[in-house]
Amino acid sequence: MQFVDLYAQYLSIKPEIDQEMAAVIAESAFVRGPYVDRFEQEFAEKVGTKHCVSCANGTDAIYVAMKALGLRPGDEVITTANSWIATSETITQAGGRVVFCDTESDFFNIDPVAIESKITNRTRGIIPVHLYGQPADMDPILEIAKRHNLWVIEDCAQAHLAVYKGRTVGTMGDAATFSFYPGKNLGAMGDAGALVTSRDDIAEFSALYARHGGKGNHVMEGINSRLDGLHAAILSVKLRHLDQWTAARQSRAAVYDRLLQGVGDIITPAVRSGGSHVYHLYVIRTKHRDSLRDWLGARSIPTVINYPRPLPLYQAYDYLGHTAADFPVAVSHADEILSLPIYPELSDSEIGTVVTAIRAFFSGIGAP
Ligand SMILES: *Cc1c(COP(=O)(O)O)cnc(C)c1O
Repeated sequence: MQFVDLYAQYLSIKPEIDQEMAAVIAESAFVRGPYVDRFEQEFAEKVGTKHCVSCANGTDAIYVAMKALGLRPGDEVITTANSWIATSETITQAGGRVVFCDTESDFFNIDPVAIESKITNRTRGIIPVHLYGQPADMDPILEIAKRHNLWVIEDCAQAHLAVYKGRTVGTMGDAATFSFYPGKNLGAMGDAGALVTSRDDIAEFSALYARHGGKGNHVMEGINSRLDGLHAAILSVKLRHLDQWTAARQSRAAVYDRLLQGVGDIITPAVRSGGSHVYHLYVIRTKHRDSLRDWLGARSIPTVINYPRPLPLYQAYDYLGHTAADFPVAVSHADEILSLPIYPELSDSEIGTVVTAIRAFFSGIGAP
C-alpha cells in the first residue's frame, strides 16, 4: 500500500494526459504560452475569482501575493502555528515579521480568538491556512481583518474546491494561493502553483512581478516564477476530473469515519458545519500515536505526521523565543496526529486493511 498513489491517477487518465503533453511538445509551448493562459482562465473560473496568476510553485505564490499587497520591512503578518513552513518563510522573504497563532482544538486551523491578541500597530495581514483540506473559520477572521484594516491571503495549498459556509476557498481573502505540487489534490508532474484574486491591482502587480517585472518593459524588478506549458496542460486535464476526485476523497474519508468509530481512543477528523472538507490528508488523533505508527509501519501501512512540531518550535524560529506554553493546542495536537493513506483511487479493501490493523493494535494494548 502507498500513502499516495500518483501512478494510479495517471493510469486512470493516461490517454488524455499523453495527448496533451504531445501537443505541448509539438508546439514547443514550454514556458508560458497558450496552455498556461488556458489553465489560468479555467482555474480562475473553477474557483470563482476574476484572475489567476500562475507561478512556479505554491510557495512563490504566497510570496508574490505579499509583494503585491505592498509588505514593507518590519510589517507583521499573523499566521498559524500548524502548517508547512512555506506559509511562514515567505513572510520573512517578503520582508515581514512572522507572528504565530495557536490553533483551534477541533479543526487544526488558526484560532480566530487567538488572532486578536496578536494584533499591533505593525500588523498588516493575516494568512489563514485551510489545513488538510478543511477551511479555516473565515467569518471571524475576515471580521477581525476588516475591523483592523488588514489584508487576508488564504493559503489554499491543501484545499482545492473546499467550501466554507457556501463559499469556495480562495474567494474570501484579498488573494489566495494554491500549490499544484504532485501530491496535492490538484497536482502537476513537478512543481507548480498559482495565486487567485478578484482584485485587479493584485493580479496586475503579480503578473508583472512574477515575470521579471514585465516582459519587454520592466516597470520594476521582479522574480522568475513561471508555470511550464507541460504542467499547465496536465493541470487542465486534471482539473476536469477534480470534482470527481474530490468526491472520491470525501467518500474514502466517510468509509474511514464509519469503520474507525469507537476504535480505541481515536478521534476522526471533524468537519465544520456549513462547509466541506476535501481531505488532502485524513488526520486522526490518538494518545498512542507513536506506537500505533510503528505497529502500522511494521505491517507495511505507510503513515505520515503532518506536522511533527508546531512551526514556531523549529530551530528556524528560535529567534522568536517561543516555548511550548505559547501554543498549547498546537503542541498537544502535534503529539497525537497521524495521517492515514488517502487518495481518490484508494479502495474499500485497502481501507479495510488499514482499519483491521488499527483495531488489532487497540485490542492488543487493551482498548484504552
Ligand atoms: C504545499 C504547501 C505550500 C507550498 O506549495 P509548494 O507548491 O510546495 O511550494 C504552502 N502551504 C501549504 C499549507 C502547503 O501544504
